[in-house]
Amino acid sequence: MTQLLSLIVPCHNESESLPVFTAAVLPVLESIPGTEWEIVCVDDGSRDDTLSQLIALAETDPRFRIVEFSRNFGKEAAMTAGLDVARGEAVIPIDADLQDPPELIPAMVEAWRAGAEVVLARRMDRSTDSLLKRQTAALFYKLHNALSKTRIPENVGDFRLMDRRVVEALRQLPERQRFMKGLFAWVGFRTVTIDYVRPSRAAGNTKFSGFALWNFALEGFTSFSTAPLRVWTYLGLAGAALALAYGALILLRTLIYGNPVPGYPSLFVAVTFFGSVQLISIGILGEYIGRIYVETKQRPAYIIRRQYPGPPPPAPGGG
Ligand code: UDP
Ligand code: MG
Repeated sequence: MTQLLSLIVPCHNESESLPVFTAAVLPVLESIPGTEWEIVCVDDGSRDDTLSQLIALAETDPRFRIVEFSRNFGKEAAMTAGLDVARGEAVIPIDADLQDPPELIPAMVEAWRAGAEVVLARRMDRSTDSLLKRQTAALFYKLHNALSKTRIPENVGDFRLMDRRVVEALRQLPERQRFMKGLFAWVGFRTVTIDYVRPSRAAGNTKFSGFALWNFALEGFTSFSTAPLRVWTYLGLAGAALALAYGALILLRTLIYGNPVPGYPSLFVAVTFFGSVQLISIGILGEYIGRIYVETKQRPAYIIRRQYPGPPPPAPGGG
């Protein structure tokens, strides 16, 4: 009995990495006994020759299946498309730059066959990432897990094995803004973790700037927690109580000692402080309302231009 394994490879301008990637990944896949495999490559609006390389691969080896996006939709959308298209009984999203070492795949498959529904690959040390990136990442996980009931395991990327059941659960989630780390964690299932050391990129440059990562983190918080919305209520209540107490104190003082010195400084501080608190809380409201707005438009998470080999594209959408 052979089992079908699907790799999902999001590719955005990966022409330098692709040859290295296929050279590394194919021998590993061949070495796993009792499996057939397919590699679903999602070309996420690349502007270099990534797509033509992928098409050439698919023409020589039918186990490569290519999904071509109509533009760059981002890694989360590319993975969503991969999950929709993959047919495997187990599915593994993997980066094209070999930062997710393919040598781990046999161990993942083994754990899956032993009964795990999700096999996580955890980075033991991230010394190849810059200090700033490591520390901001650590802060993100800490904050996120403090705010949200959905715990995202620390130092676990998108590289993982998922059973078909998990994939179907993910595909049922209707949201359009797909923060995959959070969605992966949200669906649950029996999970096993394997540790590895994260290598640096095989070729090319990272596709995520600092600001993109910051926005990504914000999306994570607001997708999986409403605590940032609620905290302002309590802060506002506390502030109002303090202000009332202070007002009562002033009134009392005026009654006892007569007209006090003009209270310009305290007034100024109070006005600016509460003004800024209001601005912050409006900003937070705006963040959530923006999400509601995007979700209500019901736009699909991605648009497929073509698939290779070429049946007509399936109904687009995130689920
Ligand atoms: N990627 C993508 N769309 C994007 C950005 C990245 O499909 O808009 C892919 C990219 O080709 C790679 C994976 O996502 O296979 C991870 O990207 P990268 O290595 O740049 O991220 P990092 O490892 O720096 O977090
Ligand atoms: Mg990378």
